[in-house]
Amino acid sequence: MLCLHKPEDVSNVPELIPQILRTDSTGIPLEWIGHQEAARLISLDMVQYAFGRIVTRLHGGINAFSQQQSTLDINAILVTRGRNREYDKGRFIPPLSNNTLFRRDENLCLYCGKQYPKQQLSRDHVRPLSQGGRDHWKNVVTACKRCNNHKADRTPEEANMKLLAIPFVPNYAEYIYLQGRHIIADQMEFLLNHFPKNSPLRQRVKIRLGKS
Ligand SMILES: [Zn+2]
Repeated sequence: MLCLHKPEDVSNVPELIPQILRTDSTGIPLEWIGHQEAARLISLDMVQYAFGRIVTRLHGGINAFSQQQSTLDINAILVTRGRNREYDKGRFIPPLSNNTLFRRDENLCLYCGKQYPKQQLSRDHVRPLSQGGRDHWKNVVTACKRCNNHKADRTPEEANMKLLAIPFVPNYAEYIYLQGRHIIADQMEFLLNHFPKNSPLRQRVKIRLGKS
């Protein structure tokens, strides 16, 4: 049984250990997991194969015979057994949350174009709920509180406010990307391959990868 210890050199800054990207058996990205969950999946033989940079090394017990301490290297991407059919045929619509919405729009108010900290942002319904607008990715944008108050219960046309980008529904890979923290290059490259061709996030990721 492998004991889980954080590696010595990063024990005081665990948040710097990148999360690990888990995919299903066909390589569809599913979620971010911590290194302990990764070790659990490996020990349960749930991992078909792993690739990408080694993000952490876990140290286990001492082997009584060899006197060697066991180690387990955890890669950035784990392909796990099982298939997630929810993503088949593009039916997946990710749950809408302010956090992910703000990240989709890069913390920009899509009316005044300025970037704000999360606390000063809000969810604006392009077509207001009072006019039959839905609480759906395609009808919501990030807006600063000031712009949202000014727009009030009006459409952008009625309020004479120009919308700076067209809201879109993230696909499964875009959604995983938007939820990620400290995403490393191997993981970004992998996710990018699953983005739709015309994804507005494509350019952003390429800039982060230094490929603009
Ligand atoms: Zn604004």
